[in-house]
Amino acid sequence: MDRYDAIIIGAGIAGFGVGGLLQGKGLKTLILEKSKTSGGRCKTFHLPGGWKVDSGTHAVDLGKYSACATLLKRLEKEIPWSRNIEGAMLYDEGQWKLLPEYLNLTTSDDRELADLETWMRAADEAELDALDRVSLNELIRRKIASPRIAEFLKTIAMCQTTLTDADHISAGEVVAIYGEALRLSEKEAEPLAQVRMPLGGIATMMQAMAAAYTERGGTLLTGTSVRRVNVQPGKPTEIVTDAETYRAPIAVIAMPIWNMLKILSMDEMARYAPAWAERMPTLERETSASMGFTIGTKAPLFTTPYYLSAWRLPNVGLPLQILGHTLFDDTIAPANHMIAFIGACCTPAQASDKAFREKTLAAFRELVKQMFPNVEQDLLWRQDGFYVGIDGLGRSPGMTGRYRPPVHLPEVPGLYFAGDCYTGRGVGMNAAANSAMICAEEILKARA
Ligand SMILES: Cc1cc2nc3c(=O)[nH]c(=O)nc-3n(C[C@H](O)[C@H](O)[C@H](O)COP(=O)(O)OP(=O)(O)OC[C@H]3O[C@@H](n4cnc5c(N)ncnc54)[C@H](O)[C@@H]3O)c2cc1C
Repeated sequence: MDRYDAIIIGAGIAGFGVGGLLQGKGLKTLILEKSKTSGGRCKTFHLPGGWKVDSGTHAVDLGKYSACATLLKRLEKEIPWSRNIEGAMLYDEGQWKLLPEYLNLTTSDDRELADLETWMRAADEAELDALDRVSLNELIRRKIASPRIAEFLKTIAMCQTTLTDADHISAGEVVAIYGEALRLSEKEAEPLAQVRMPLGGIATMMQAMAAAYTERGGTLLTGTSVRRVNVQPGKPTEIVTDAETYRAPIAVIAMPIWNMLKILSMDEMARYAPAWAERMPTLERETSASMGFTIGTKAPLFTTPYYLSAWRLPNVGLPLQILGHTLFDDTIAPANHMIAFIGACCTPAQASDKAFREKTLAAFRELVKQMFPNVEQDLLWRQDGFYVGIDGLGRSPGMTGRYRPPVHLPEVPGLYFAGDCYTGRGVGMNAAANSAMICAEEILKARA
């Protein structure tokens, strides 16, 4: 059997990221992936007629300045990016309004927002650390007087953290993500202005990461589910699949906590890292969820290249989000046709409740008819969907920054973790990319 320096479980952003970076430093690695195709949660589906449809939004926060872009650069890959989202529009009293009109800020509100943004732009690690246990509502109580600015911040935070309740959103994560967007933004005071999609769908990014990995000599085995990981400090880790048992000095579990718990026994881990083993099962359901639908229409429903958000909706308990992918990328649908994702972040309990889902999606469809009167006549296809575990570990107080599960347990040398449930800030894919870079660095440091 081939001998590997490191075996990585999972071929998503985190798995390819760690694998590619280690291969670049001369390690011999193997990635085991249970699905027949790689990419993890980042998939693009091809529909007849030239449609390329991502699952959900799959928009990369900060686009070409993102952690995903940094990881690609470290893997010596570049991808073409879509046009950027120019900002956000909000639905109010039957109309779509640009942010300044929607916020309708007074001069003193303006000053308050400018001060808040100056503070966020400058927030350092110590301030973020202190805010990681604080809720967004608490931060608002401490720092914001204007109800309009409070609502604006909650809307942006919901888009960025995929959580809907400001009591459950960590202020540290909001300030970290928003602050970075402000620092990198080419446009003043527009936190969503650098969001982009890989041209051709999210698969473009995943193909580049997969190519970097294999071109650097890495071995990828798809259709290979890992059933069990056996660890014993000081000995190579055993990785058991149906066909084979592998052994390697370094094992990287590059999958979410809810998958990890199925292959790594917490009873066994409690012998080496008891506090960690006790905490992990409590985090299994601490994630985000979404429900909604993607539609293809033979004419655009709207033409403004903005992220649309409808926050205060009658009869619907969730804030609706709309992204018209074709406004940013001409390569994913026939000319003048539109792909739009229409949906909302929700709790795992809401997404798992069939009756709630049906009621909510029916309400969304009615609203969409009011918002875009041509939707029915121009509709070519619609795919309903829901997903629990969109964005990895939730971004609640006490779960972000240094409170996130670590990429490495000192008690168990050779065992590592990477992905959007572990150390690494940022929105979904950026969290996974950051985590991969942190994990690879830790591995290389331990070997030096
Ligand atoms: C519908 C949807 C919309 C999203 N929209 C956005 C967005 O707009 N912006 C954003 O930033 N993020 C978004 N995300 C989140 C983003 O997709 C994830 O944060 C990111 O892909 C996580 O990457 P990862 O490598 O950590 O994990 P994953 O992509 O989950 O990779 C883990 C891999 O491990 C494999 N695996 C699991 N168990 C085993 C096993 N036993 N043996 C072998 N392999 C195994 C899985 O098959 C998978 O390929 C969205 C996610 C979803 C689902």
